[in-house]
Formats: sequence, C-alpha cells, structure tokens
Amino acid sequence: MISVIEPATGEEMAQVHRAGTEDVDKAVAAAKAAFPAWRAVAPAERANLMHAMADALSNRASDLAETEARNAGKPISDAEGEIGMVVECFRYYAGAPERLLGKTIPVAGGVDMTFREPLGVVGLIVPWNFPLVIASWKVAPALAAGNTVVLKPAELTPLTALEMEKILLEAGLPEGVFNVVAGPGSVCGQRLVEHPDVAKVAFTGSTEIGRGIAEAAASTIKRVTLELGGKSANLVFADADVSAAAAAAPFAVFANAGQDCCARSRILVEAPVMDDFLSELEKTVRGMVVGDPLDRATQMGPLISSDHRESVAGFIEDESKIAFQGDCPDGPGFWFPPTVLAPMSNDDMASRDEIFGPVVCVIPFGDEEEAVRLANDTVYGLSGSIWTTNGAKALRVARGIDTGVLSINSNSSVRVSTPFGGFKQSGVGRELGPDALEHYTEVKNVFYSTEVG
Ligand code: NAD
Repeated sequence: MISVIEPATGEEMAQVHRAGTEDVDKAVAAAKAAFPAWRAVAPAERANLMHAMADALSNRASDLAETEARNAGKPISDAEGEIGMVVECFRYYAGAPERLLGKTIPVAGGVDMTFREPLGVVGLIVPWNFPLVIASWKVAPALAAGNTVVLKPAELTPLTALEMEKILLEAGLPEGVFNVVAGPGSVCGQRLVEHPDVAKVAFTGSTEIGRGIAEAAASTIKRVTLELGGKSANLVFADADVSAAAAAAPFAVFANAGQDCCARSRILVEAPVMDDFLSELEKTVRGMVVGDPLDRATQMGPLISSDHRESVAGFIEDESKIAFQGDCPDGPGFWFPPTVLAPMSNDDMASRDEIFGPVVCVIPFGDEEEAVRLANDTVYGLSGSIWTTNGAKALRVARGIDTGVLSINSNSSVRVSTPFGGFKQSGVGRELGPDALEHYTEVKNVFYSTEVG
C-alpha cells in the first residue's frame, strides 16, 4: 500500500493500492482494447462527452479541492482555482473533436488531403506539485483527439487522480478509455515508458527524470513531450512601477511554497532601484500568512515532505546571504519560511539550481544588455517576467530571452487557451491551447487519383 501523508501535519491521510508493473500492463491492455471504439466515436458525441466530464468534475469541485489542498499542502483558495482550471480544460478541449481539421493540397492528377489521426494509447506521467491540474492539461487533449490514456500520478499525491478515474467513468466515458495506475515512478513510470503498446509519453517532472525518459523512449521510437524544471527570471527595470513589481514578486516565487516550475526564483533588479525594491519586497514577505492550507487566510502552505524540506535547506550555503524571511509554523508538518537571499550573484549555487522551495535570489544588473545576458545564463528556459513602463524595451527584452512563457508587467504563466512549455532543458513540446493537440495526433496524408475511373 501507499501511505499518503498530509504535509501540514505529517500524518497519514489515506492508504491506496501501490501499483506494480502488472497493473501497468493491465491498464495498457485495457486502453489498447478500448482504442478502436473510442477513436470511432463521432466528433460531436465525443465533444458532448467532454462537456459531461467537465460537468461531473465541476459537481465534485469542492471535495476535490479540499483533498488536493490537504494532500499537496496548498492553500485551499489555490486548490479551488486549480480544480476550476481542470473543468475549464475539459470544456476548452470539448471544442477540439469537431475542429481537428485537415488540409487539401493542390497537386497534379488528383486530390491530396491530410487527416489528424489519434496516436493510440498514451502514457501520462505527472508530478506532485499541481497533481490534478497538470494531469488535466494532458488528459483532456489526449481524449479529445481520440486517444486512450494511462495516467500515472506521483506517489505522494495520487488521491485526486484516482477520484478522477471514478468521476469520468460515472460521466459516461467507456471502460478502458481512461486508466489510473498509482505507483512508484521507477516501476510504473518506467514500465509505461518502455511498454511497446504505448505510442506516446507526456511527462511533467524534473529535468533529470525527463532525460532518462527521453532515452528510454528512444528504443520504441515513442513520441515524447517533456515539461521539466525552471529557474526563471523576474526582471525589474528602473523605469518600472517598482512598488507594483515588489508587491507581486513574492507570489511569483512563493506560491505553492515555491514548488512551481514557473517560479520566478531569480529576481534581477536594475541597480539604482535595488534598495527601494528590497524595502517594498520586505514588507510583503514579512506579512505573508504561512499556515494551515484549509484556512482561507493562508497564502503559503508547507513543503511536500520532510526530505524535500532538507533538500531546500541545503541550498542556503551561507546564512549571511539571508536578507529577510517571513514567518512559518514550527511543526508538526514540513514548514519552511519564505526566504529572500540578497544581493546574490548569478553564479551562486542558489541562483543556478532549481531549489523548488520558497527561496528567491535577488541579483543586481547594470543595463538592458546585462539583464538579458543574466536571464539567459541558465540551462533552463520555462517562464519569466519583465517589469518596465517602456513598451519598446519590454518587447526587445521579451524577444531576447530564451524562454517559453513570458509576461510583461505581470507574473502570469498559464491559461488553457495559450501554449505552455519550455526552451532549452525546460522541455520539449507545448501543452494547452491548440498547440497541445499537435502532440496527441499524427498527420496522415492521403492522395486520391482523379485519373482512374
Ligand atoms: P519527478 O521527476 O521526481 O517525478 C515526476 C513523475 O515522474 C512522478 O510521477 C514520478 O513518480 C515519475 N517518475 C519518477 N521516476 C521515473 C522513471 N524512472 N520513469 C518514469 N517516471 C518516473 O518530479 P517531481 O519531484 O514529482 O516534481 C518536481 C519537478 O517537476 C520539478 O523539477 C519541476 O520543475 C517539475 N515540474 C515541471 C512542470 C512544467 O510544466 N514544466 C510543472 C510542474 C513540475
């Protein structure tokens, strides 16, 4: 059995069956058997089913959000927002079955046309930080495009995925189309990646595991999309609304206790406004409410586990670099205070590695060229922000930074209708928006001769 722990208390909240390779094989066989009928469902009928699944998830939104808040240790208001996005994601892709359009291409001697065909069985592997919402970014486009699915949630947070399996079945999804296996990554995840009947793997997680998945998938030439780590920059220019940038910055890195691939965990500040920026930042950080995820006043919860808390603490090599910290409960539970390291160099370990906790490095820069160079001086390229009132500079800098998702005078990262994904070692492929559908379909080209008959 898997003992599922509540990070705010350190206590067990549930036990679930620990799946093994035989469970993966059974799930893949069920998905393979269900595929021919599922791909043949008429587009309008599949669209209606997507809406029925969205309705069913929406009806269960409040208990799914509570389970997610307790199991992942996230503030209840954040968990409600995430479950809202799960529903939105199913509704968005309900529009897809009737819009998976092909092309007709002018050629000699006949008619040439393309079709977007489903891939077959797809294996989806997701992390513990945004358990159900990241799953929905994969499940909804995969099903809408006519694939069948085996989903493997993270071992630490399997509960909402297992609930989703029941909810989708009750909403009318045929048996075998959507299957969940909750078990260790090195066993169940690995088997999914190596399974000859799985056509594609979509993975969200660490860059290290992603690299292994890309290698393992090569032997069966599986399609692979990877959403990996990040070390994103939040650039604050001297001509920005510095108070607005400083008031927003903590939530761009301490949301979800910093366990967010999009965390703006490097704040690059133009030197002349560094002091102003830090004093505004300090007010917000010291006022952050860190505590019980189920309390509506809470802005930040605990880290996911005791091991992870140790790993985060290990990044603070030099305590004299701590400019200031917020408060957090003493325990039980896996608490860590929001922590600001300043001034830092971009070469410090805390500025280079993905900490995945509530620790941010504030780094000064001299001019626009240096800001872009520092922002790009990382192996990652997932998100980022630019704060300036000069529109031309904002767009110049945005074009200069090698990253998949950028926002100007804002720290937003994700919308269901817009593409999300990384440059460099932050990943391969895109989720959400119309782009995701390309990764769940193959293009088939058909030529019909008009010269015979
Ligand atoms: P992880 O890489 O340890 O695990 C992710 C998933 O992979 C889990 O389900 C795990 O069981 C599974 N897994 C582990 N070993 C495997 C193997 N050998 N084969 C197949 N599957 C395996 O990541 P995590 O600790 O759960 O999540 C944190 C990481 O995820 C961070 O690096 C973060 O940046 C990244 N992340 C990225 C995004 C994004 O969209 N780019 C979003 C959220 C999290």
